[in-house]
Amino acid sequence: MKLGATVGIGVVVIGLVAGGLVYAHQQHPTTSITKSSQHTSKQTKSATTKPYPVQVKAGSTEATTLMVVNKKHPLPADYNPYNGGLSPKTNQAKDELISAMKAAGFNVGDTVSGYRAYDYQKTLYDGYVAGQGQAAADSVSARPGYSEHQTGLAFDLRSSTGGLFAEGGSDPDAAQWLQDNAYKYGLIVRYPEDLTTSTGYDHEEWHMRYVGKRAAAVITKYHLSLEQYTGNAGGDYNKSKSADIPALEEYSATYKDRLTK
Ligand SMILES: [Zn+2]
Repeated sequence: MKLGATVGIGVVVIGLVAGGLVYAHQQHPTTSITKSSQHTSKQTKSATTKPYPVQVKAGSTEATTLMVVNKKHPLPADYNPYNGGLSPKTNQAKDELISAMKAAGFNVGDTVSGYRAYDYQKTLYDGYVAGQGQAAADSVSARPGYSEHQTGLAFDLRSSTGGLFAEGGSDPDAAQWLQDNAYKYGLIVRYPEDLTTSTGYDHEEWHMRYVGKRAAAVITKYHLSLEQYTGNAGGDYNKSKSADIPALEEYSATYKDRLTK
């Protein structure tokens, strides 16, 4: 039985290597499922049919909309593309979402916490560090330059009485409604409870991110992080800043490599 198993594994390995060679010759993922590759492993086939990482054209509006800013991809201090506010599409999506939430009976306020400038984030973060130390500060506040709020594509919902919306499981029905319905407005819940390893952030029921309707539908259907959808690294801060890849370079360079025709 052991011998048989060994032979079986050998056949599988050879099959995988052969499959890998076929796959390696196919430069373009969308053409990789051909008759000659039908015998490749199930794993290889599913990898080529996944709707992610997404392929978008470098420099396109969609690439900008899908920009990833996280603990490994910072923005420059002067990044402020929408004059201190949200992008027009993010703002429209926010208004539509809040209207829908009210219609569904949720206790949501009209004002959000949207764009945050680098200097403002620095003040917030430095305050946490002074009060609690850096490790504790990192668990509750982004370092300046690493906050998605600086993109103008993200905002925090508030309850009508002022606090963060559905914070800390205070309204699980509302949190679930957002998970299920935000995509209709081109939005996603950016930091879901079970994707913290990928995003680098604890669950934030209230933090919404605009990605456009096409991306939001796929991200919601397959329950992905934005990192998984775009193929960008996530998780905690790099030990050294020199390992960071600036967000503005990452989305253009990475997406350029994945350029579709
Ligand atoms: Zn937020």
